[in-house]
Amino acid sequence: MAIRKIREIGDEVLRKTCKEVKEMTPRTAQLIDDMLETMYEANGVGLAASQVGVLKRIVVIDTTGEDPYVLINPRILETSGEQSGQEGCLSVPGKTGIVTRPFYVRVAACDRDMHVFELEGTELLARAICHELDHLDGHLYVERVEGELMDVEEAQEE
Ligand code: ZN
Repeated sequence: MAIRKIREIGDEVLRKTCKEVKEMTPRTAQLIDDMLETMYEANGVGLAASQVGVLKRIVVIDTTGEDPYVLINPRILETSGEQSGQEGCLSVPGKTGIVTRPFYVRVAACDRDMHVFELEGTELLARAICHELDHLDGHLYVERVEGELMDVEEAQEE
């Protein structure tokens, strides 16, 4: 496994739409391992392939630090409710902002064996799923921030 360089806001690759994964290859399996390692090393709760410069529809998410989800070709099946809270992104270091997301989401995705499964989440997991799926379509949370984008330190003082 290897740590990959996380692309930051301003990098064109973050604006691009990722492509469907057609089959699992050793190269894609390696990418997933690297994404997990890169996410953990950066203390993130999620990472999309475009954030390491690869335009594939793959995201990794771990909101608990011990239970990673790998979502390949994910699509949202259902959302409900609303939650408003602080969000950050490994591609926008040192910043945070308030974003409203669904409280509940249900997605279908392929796992590493390319078998379809469903995942549902509320609260932070729902937020992370929506945030990461946005990356696959070239969107960053900063487009959705209500009010000002804040520095992380400034936000913590409040
Ligand atoms: Zn992000």
